[in-house]
Amino acid sequence: MDTETAIPDTLLGAVKYFSDIETCMAFVAALRWPNGVECPRCGAGPDATYRLSTRPLWKCRSCKKQFSVKVGSIFEDSPIGLDKWLPALWMLVNCKNGVSSYEIARDLGITQKSAWFMLHRLRLAVHTKSFEKIGGHVEIDETYIGGKARNMHKDKRDRVITGTGSIGKVAVQGLLKRHGKDGHSTVRLSVVSDVRKGTLQATVRANVRKGSKVYTDELLSYDGLESDYVHNVINHAEAYVDGQIHTNGMENFWSLLKRALKGTYVSVEPFHLFRYLDEQAYRFNNRKMSDAKRFLEACASAFGKRLTFTALTGKELPQTC
Ligand SMILES: [Zn+2]
Repeated sequence: MDTETAIPDTLLGAVKYFSDIETCMAFVAALRWPNGVECPRCGAGPDATYRLSTRPLWKCRSCKKQFSVKVGSIFEDSPIGLDKWLPALWMLVNCKNGVSSYEIARDLGITQKSAWFMLHRLRLAVHTKSFEKIGGHVEIDETYIGGKARNMHKDKRDRVITGTGSIGKVAVQGLLKRHGKDGHSTVRLSVVSDVRKGTLQATVRANVRKGSKVYTDELLSYDGLESDYVHNVINHAEAYVDGQIHTNGMENFWSLLKRALKGTYVSVEPFHLFRYLDEQAYRFNNRKMSDAKRFLEACASAFGKRLTFTALTGKELPQTC
């Protein structure tokens, strides 16, 4: 099955296409086992496995166990069918500003609670942790997300806000690798505990190759990067942008991110913020792909990753998004 040409390129097309459970299974199996179905329990090859004729399962001649295409994937243990999972993933990676659990619930005819859980599992699938450092020209900037300091009464504001004006907010640091001749810029985002020197520079050193050109504003926390990098500092007092010395790419990304968070999600618990960041970075970094390709890439990474309900929530569900 040639998955890329087989799948349609619109949401409506995807919903129709995946409405047939056999098609869903064949699709996922083809992505997961491009060289034939392997046993996820014992690792036996395609020669040892066969499809049961009566149930949506395969069986392994070697370990005698039965298994479904969902085993060991983010879909495992879920009573929700692939006919809902796959269109939900389509929506997640292709709706430009993100999608809420309310929209998914309405469009797929499931409860909001189910949709909320699905979305969080799907965000895990699009979480791309690259171990390769980035290089070239890298813009570095931070922003704050959440919090309502502006709407607080002045007395309270004075009481709770300490120096940085960031109480109740989460600090996020972004690294944007500028594109070369062709290609496009990509971002990496990290939720950081504070914006102190040690914290911010640790992320930079963990993600950016030595000797790269980095661009930051005048924040003192970036002082000292010049020992490992070509450090360009923006002088905001100057009325013009000095050629390459700016973090406009990163600032544009922040405005996209904030628009998405404001428009789509009622509120984001700080605990879950990193998942939304992953989702937004995934769409941004893969923005030149077709919808179908972006969907396929996300689908392929859905295997080998699981997220249980308890691990996800810790306790009960704050179902606000
Ligand atoms: Zn087996």
